[in-house]
Amino acid sequence: MTSYEFTCPDCGREIPVTDPMRDATLVNGCPVCGRSVTADHFAT
Ligand SMILES: [Zn+2]
Repeated sequence: MTSYEFTCPDCGREIPVTDPMRDATLVNGCPVCGRSVTADHFAT
C-alpha cells in the first residue's frame, strides 16, 4: 500500500499515513491540531 509522510504546517507534527488515512486527513484536517491541509502537505 502506498504510504505518505504528512507534515502539518501548523503543529509541525510528522506522521506516516497510508492512502485511506491521507484521504481522511484531507477531509478532516490534521489529526493532531485539526488544521485543514492540502495534498501539498504530503510527501511520498
Ligand atoms: Zn497539526
